[in-house]
Amino acid sequence: MRLILLGPPGAGKGTQAKRLEERYGVVQIATGDMLRAEVKSGSPIGREAKAIMERGELVPDSILIGMLAARVQAPDVARGFILDGFPRTVPQAQALDGMLSDQALPLDHVIELKVDDAALVERIAGRYTCAKCGEGYHDRFKVPAQAGVCDVCGSTEFVRRADDRAETVAARLETYHRQTSPLLPHYAGQGKLKQVDGMADMDEVTRQIAAIVSGRPLGTG
Ligand code: ADP
Ligand code: ADP
Ligand code: ZN
Repeated sequence: MRLILLGPPGAGKGTQAKRLEERYGVVQIATGDMLRAEVKSGSPIGREAKAIMERGELVPDSILIGMLAARVQAPDVARGFILDGFPRTVPQAQALDGMLSDQALPLDHVIELKVDDAALVERIAGRYTCAKCGEGYHDRFKVPAQAGVCDVCGSTEFVRRADDRAETVAARLETYHRQTSPLLPHYAGQGKLKQVDGMADMDEVTRQIAAIVSGRPLGTG
């Protein structure tokens, strides 16, 4: 199974990618997570990316295309992948089309999570993750069962992303509409684009995606 989850920041791509990873044994490839790891390690890529990410702009295509080309060669990707946050520009999508056709690995679906901008602002502002295991939470929409304790690993330390502050969110949404939304007609033209209602609750979104992946539209049993 090879999927792209496409959608604006805060749409729920990471949340759904992790669920798909567990359910289908395919790997999530999240370029935002890969870049944050580069920033944390202080690598040359990380040093170049840090300020760009904090402004809510896109890191250069050449860097992302190189990172992705290396990642899709890794053995753990053989069973399939879910791209979360890549591609984000038409040149990235074209590079991906080339890589996948060279390796005879066609995409199954490109799934767009549709969410209104107003809801995105609230989702991003309330987002935080476990510092130890990376489990995602939200101040209102996904709180740990026991306040301040991670459901998955029991850690009591949590982190918020530097670019999730309100001032940056508007820039990130603008970047999405200007540079990433042209991918919707790109993949619609290939007959791969499917849409789900990203405004629905997390479990309902998961059901809608599962229906697409299984080739069994909802409502037909
Ligand atoms: P993305 O990876 O697209 O940026 P996330 O999966 O990190 O988005 O989700 C953003 C925030 O919204 C997280 O705090 C997450 O817990 C929450 N969230 C995700 N999906 C939903 C949903 N369907 N309804 C409400 N909140 C959600
Ligand atoms: P979100 O989950 O909110 O959609 P990500 O974690 O995917 O955000 O990305 C965080 C930041 O990392 C982006 O705002 C951008 O600066 C950078 N980034 C991630 N993926 C890409 C990409 N494919 N091309 C360029 N920049 C990227
Ligand atoms: Zn945890």
